[in-house]
Amino acid sequence: MSKKVFIETYGCQMNVSDSERMATILAKEGFQIVEDEREADIVLLNTCSVREKAENKIYARVGQIRRRRRNVILGISGCVAQLEGEELFDRFSGKNSIDFIIGTRATDRIAKVINSVIREGKTKVIDNHEREDYPELSFDLNLSHSKCVAFLPIIEGCNKFCTYCIVPFSRGREVSFPPRLILQQARQLVSQNVKEIHLIGQNVNSYRPREMQDLEKFKGATPFSKLLRMVAELSGCERIKFTTSFPRDFHPDIVSAIEEYDNLCNWVHLPVQSGSDRVLKLMRRGHTKDAYMKRVERIKSSKKMIALTTDIIVGFPGETEQDFMQTVELVEQCEFHHAYIFKYSPRPGTPAAEQMTDSVPPEEKTRRFLYLESIQKKIQAKIWQSYVGSEKLVLVEGKSKKNPNQLTGHTTCNKVVNFEGDERLVGQIVKVKILEAKNNSFLGRLV
Ligand code: SF4
Repeated sequence: MSKKVFIETYGCQMNVSDSERMATILAKEGFQIVEDEREADIVLLNTCSVREKAENKIYARVGQIRRRRRNVILGISGCVAQLEGEELFDRFSGKNSIDFIIGTRATDRIAKVINSVIREGKTKVIDNHEREDYPELSFDLNLSHSKCVAFLPIIEGCNKFCTYCIVPFSRGREVSFPPRLILQQARQLVSQNVKEIHLIGQNVNSYRPREMQDLEKFKGATPFSKLLRMVAELSGCERIKFTTSFPRDFHPDIVSAIEEYDNLCNWVHLPVQSGSDRVLKLMRRGHTKDAYMKRVERIKSSKKMIALTTDIIVGFPGETEQDFMQTVELVEQCEFHHAYIFKYSPRPGTPAAEQMTDSVPPEEKTRRFLYLESIQKKIQAKIWQSYVGSEKLVLVEGKSKKNPNQLTGHTTCNKVVNFEGDERLVGQIVKVKILEAKNNSFLGRLV
């Protein structure tokens, strides 16, 4: 009888994508993927370590699983596995032991690792090496987070080494996947009726493959803007989104590509992190406020309305009131459609945590967070209110989690719209009239 595997995913889209591919490999090797942990013979926690909170959750989760299921085979993959390596076996011992660890570049070997645990009765298998080859990009849509929206990784890892960030250590150096593999997978997704492809990576616009020949026939100032055009020209590909963009590598030609193709969606996520040049330097972001604003000007002056979103950290070591007010000013100037605002917390192993003093007291971080959030909320409310009365094309992705009588989906500018409708519309692009702007979603009516 086939062994049953339950995969629990934490963190970003890259992790979701890794889980989808691991599930596909396991299913091909005869394992059965289940949605209920209680049915599983094997539980895999695909972990995130971007914030300490996420990492702590894993420790609690292992204990919880072990209390319920003493004999289940339990493994850890993802960033925590990559960073902690063999030490995890010491950390999880006795009643809370784990059986295997698999690093971020070894996901293709998941079946081998689990088979090795089963066959050899081993309780410890480490498979934590660098990836030997490009990963298998294809996955089974029946095992993915959605049948109409697909995550397609084009680059993994990061070379930027922002001082607060653990990703370059947990995901390794940047590796751009060959255009040929990306196109092959995009084609397959389109043939399976996927309506929206998200090209994903820590910094998609730093895309620089070794194999450039397949991109040569496409116009473009950078490999990424050529790649966008390559995917956009794929017949039947209805929507393409991409995230995340790194400001320093954001070439204006990306906006030109968005303008040229209807299926390149009008949304750019461009994390700024701070509006102070001094803090940006301490963060080692590689851009100044002015350089960022130049990118914003190009995006805002586009003939297509492009929704701009961002990430911001408040209370970074050494951030003064003056620095903070520069961030406030930038937020007011940029008029982001949405901003993910975070209070800085030191991430062990990063230069900011090891070499800088976490100088802003917690209550001051909270004050700055709330203040900035209130400014952003006002800006956002005004922008979102301007959508009321308009009609938008929405890709119907499923039933709303909060209200099962409603369907939910996204606009091309990546806003959530909830509305009443027949479940048979799932997977289709429909026109919806926007009736009301909520904090982070719209209420609409099918046209
Ligand atoms: S660009 Fe900076 S913040 Fe983004 S993943 Fe790389 S190091 Fe982290």
